[in-house]
Amino acid sequence: MKNYNVDEKGYYGPFGGAFIPDELKENIDQLTERYVEILESPKFKKEFAALLKDYAGRPSPLYFAPRLSAKYGARIYLKREELNHTGSHKINNAIGQILLAREMGCTHIIAETGAGQHGVATATVCAMLGLKCTIYMGAVDVERQALNVARMKMLGATVEAVTSGGATLKDAVDVALGYWVSHPDAYYLLGSAVGPHPFPDLVARLQSVISEEIRKQLLEQEGRELPDYVIACIGGGSNAAGAFYHFLDEESVRLVQVEAGGHGTDGHEHAASITCGSEGVLHGSRSMILFDENGDVREPYSISAGLDYPGIGPLHAYLAQTGRSTVLTATDRQALDAARELSQLEGIIPAIESAHALAALPQLRFRPEEVVVVNVSGRGDKDMPTYLREFGL
Ligand SMILES: *Cc1c(COP(=O)(O)O)cnc(C)c1O
Repeated sequence: MKNYNVDEKGYYGPFGGAFIPDELKENIDQLTERYVEILESPKFKKEFAALLKDYAGRPSPLYFAPRLSAKYGARIYLKREELNHTGSHKINNAIGQILLAREMGCTHIIAETGAGQHGVATATVCAMLGLKCTIYMGAVDVERQALNVARMKMLGATVEAVTSGGATLKDAVDVALGYWVSHPDAYYLLGSAVGPHPFPDLVARLQSVISEEIRKQLLEQEGRELPDYVIACIGGGSNAAGAFYHFLDEESVRLVQVEAGGHGTDGHEHAASITCGSEGVLHGSRSMILFDENGDVREPYSISAGLDYPGIGPLHAYLAQTGRSTVLTATDRQALDAARELSQLEGIIPAIESAHALAALPQLRFRPEEVVVVNVSGRGDKDMPTYLREFGL
């Protein structure tokens, strides 16, 4: 059986590693040296578990969706990450890393954000522990996610609008990494399963609570721990990594990654890094990246700010390469339709990111007894202006 966990050099097969400037070497080395020991310590485990429970509101429910199940002819469950404090799975990782940062003696936290969910989660945990917080966000995203920008400011964070490049997530990461290079005393609280080792593994471990809970909840509700499918959307890959983590070695569980197909993968306006990308290095690790004919990183596109990223975490590139996972895409239109469908069949308005995962349902063929878990990574409040515009509400 293949090993889907990171090796000691930070690789998943050919993907991963730590391609970083010398200025960051000491920081990254220190983090690499200490993260497992800290995460495994009784003190961390106890504090992390208590905050997940009493602050974030975990465990998040696993809801059997009867009307969605009837429509697609399977036993469909929704993992309700949208019910967490701040409205998405991002809080799991933010709580874990803020405890890690405190343990390592850091007092200034920096982070990137796309849709603003990671920025809000980071600003939230910084407020909780009284730490200084600076969030880098593409100017385009500042515009299209105004509610989350306001939330970050309300929480006391400084929001830096990034105007370089396409002024979206990739550019925000570039500027945040640049700041870190010149201020290595800050802690970079990375929001997805991307970046140099050990971030992809660190984030996957902190998000793995999602699949840990799914196993327990399925055992209670279905009498078996293993579903037939786990479906998640892929931006950088943190909610998917968390939803897959405790099923990676269970070959009977089909793992489905859904990428943002934007206006369609026959053109260039999409963010489907696995489906249309090639191997390369971006933001410190080797993975599948969208490049143009000149070998420059291509400007990605998605209706969803959280999926609008030209790369993918190295674990996901490896799962796809080895055939462990199934990779699908959902266009803007398919995601919008899925968002409206979930709203009107189950009374749950999903984030436009999560709607991409739901858009996998009509693309798959199920048997009636099969158990399908869709990770609903976030709630749709932040996307109401988009839904309003698209549906003419
Ligand atoms: C950030 C975000 C995503 C995409 O990021 P991943 O790291 O791929 O999970 C998906 N859904 C929501 C609600 C988000 O906020």
